[in-house]
Amino acid sequence: MRLKNLAIQTKIVLLVGIILAGIVYKHVWSRQYTDWGKVHEQEVIEDNLLLQRDLQAIVRDLEGIVSLFKSSDFVSRNGFKAYVGPILEKQKFVKAFKWVPLISDKNRESYEKKMRQEGFPGFQIVQHYSKSGEIIPALKNEIYYPVHYVEPGVSNEEVLGFDIGTDPELLKILNESKETGEPAAMERIDLVSNSRENSSLYIVVPYYEGGKFPADLHDRAEKFKGFALGKYGIKEMIKEMVKDYLPKGLNLLVYVDEEKNENRLFGQPIKDPPKQIPSVASFSNRHWIMVWQATKAFRGGPKFTNDAYWFAGAILAVTLFLSIIFEIMASRTRQVENQVRLRTEELTQSNAKLMELNDLKNKFLGMASHDLRNPLASIKGYAKFLLDKGKNIKEDTRQEFLSTIYSASKNMVGLLENLLDISVIESGQLNLNLQTASMKHLAEDRVHLQKILAEKKEISIEMTLEAMPDFPFDANRMGQVIDNLLGNAIKFSPPGKDIHVRLAANGEMARFSVTDEGPGISREERGRLFEHFQKLSPRPTGGENSSGLGLAIARRIVEEHHGNIEVESEPGSGSTFIVEIPMQ
Ligand code: ADP
Repeated sequence: MRLKNLAIQTKIVLLVGIILAGIVYKHVWSRQYTDWGKVHEQEVIEDNLLLQRDLQAIVRDLEGIVSLFKSSDFVSRNGFKAYVGPILEKQKFVKAFKWVPLISDKNRESYEKKMRQEGFPGFQIVQHYSKSGEIIPALKNEIYYPVHYVEPGVSNEEVLGFDIGTDPELLKILNESKETGEPAAMERIDLVSNSRENSSLYIVVPYYEGGKFPADLHDRAEKFKGFALGKYGIKEMIKEMVKDYLPKGLNLLVYVDEEKNENRLFGQPIKDPPKQIPSVASFSNRHWIMVWQATKAFRGGPKFTNDAYWFAGAILAVTLFLSIIFEIMASRTRQVENQVRLRTEELTQSNAKLMELNDLKNKFLGMASHDLRNPLASIKGYAKFLLDKGKNIKEDTRQEFLSTIYSASKNMVGLLENLLDISVIESGQLNLNLQTASMKHLAEDRVHLQKILAEKKEISIEMTLEAMPDFPFDANRMGQVIDNLLGNAIKFSPPGKDIHVRLAANGEMARFSVTDEGPGISREERGRLFEHFQKLSPRPTGGENSSGLGLAIARRIVEEHHGNIEVESEPGSGSTFIVEIPMQ
């Protein structure tokens, strides 16, 4: 069955079902996706906290160094080394810890001298930042921040004496930290490789004599002694920090200030990750943007159980079931409707038939009253005359009267027979009595009987009857047809004319025809020739009786034999009536 043939209700049920199944499928599917997303969010919150804690811990290491200076009057080179050594050992991402004291210009010379005596022969305060890479003594300034201790010392010793105040970027965080008493930090892209991969993080923590941050400006200038400075490899640092808890399938990107490529400090972005959450990690004065990307590998990706399929499938099954029921109901209704239509058509047809029959019946009555009245009236008149005055009239006159009565009643019997035939035919009760016989013999017999009538009108009948095999037909009824055609030819031909009767095989058909030289039948009247009660313009030429029923009866008899009857006529020069019936 095609979709477009379905009933409208079925289509609606199907449509609603499919839409519902789609909605439910999408809903269940997205709920499962959301569940996975929530796990990701939870993971990000936890990981972000852990990372922030670790970042803050590195600031605390620096504060520890400052505490070391707070707690003793003098920290020796070895003391510094002993304190930071274990930290460096543990945290490979720390590139250097430095102690940077503040040296005023008036103390510069004595400081340099003291250092030279301590075992650094060529020691002098030099510029930290020089484009050419040459070592240039620091220009005269009010204050200097020379590197005093550096660990690990082995590879970094040449750094001693570098005035980090001559590095404009570093100077900025030094001042910030000095003014607030808080740690300050900055990132820097490695200048040698110029690659973000090797970015470093610098953190400075200020040291004020006495340990506290002095509220008073003058006090602050007096008591400020220097900084603990840490330099960290950002990439190694974050890698080390997250290595223990960054789960499989979670990718971390770290940006400074803004989430764009040139600001990326860590991580390689994955293209179009199913989910990503940005967050911020803060330590000292830095705010890093952490972007946590989740791939399908994270917790096995969104878990898609078959729930969505089951739900949608169940709805579709119910829909299908409902639509089948609707379709069955609709097809029942259609059947009933069709039956009603059929019955209505049948009723209309039989109604039309009834009306036709009623019409016919009325014509019968009209005919009976008209055509039976005249002969009956003459019978009555002649009979009364014979009764009243029969004794007094001559024998030959009585004979004449009696023969008139006889012919009138004969006509009446003929008419009544025709009426009975019509009534049998129209009520569908014309049952043929088919017997295999010779059509030629039948035609010969009938022509013989009619010859007497023809001779009275001096009409001669010629016959051309070909022999043909016997075949089944109703001899009485076909005789009636021949009588009618021959009778009409005699009846409507003027005296002295000829009639030609022919019988021949025409293929599978037996072809019987009667040709006369009568008045012929006009084209307009030919259409009505075979209908009931059609008396047309040609009238009997010898006072014969005419009812207009003969050809109608003949046509029905021929049709019952599966044959056909037709007329060829040239008005003024005769007609030929042709009957053909199959020989099988
Ligand atoms: P009936 O002969 O009793 O009048 P039919 O049905 O046999 O009834 O014929 C109907 C009418 O057809 C006739 O009244 C006549 O006008 C016309 N008709 C029939 N046969 C011929 C014929 N051979 N030549 C001319 N007119 C004819």
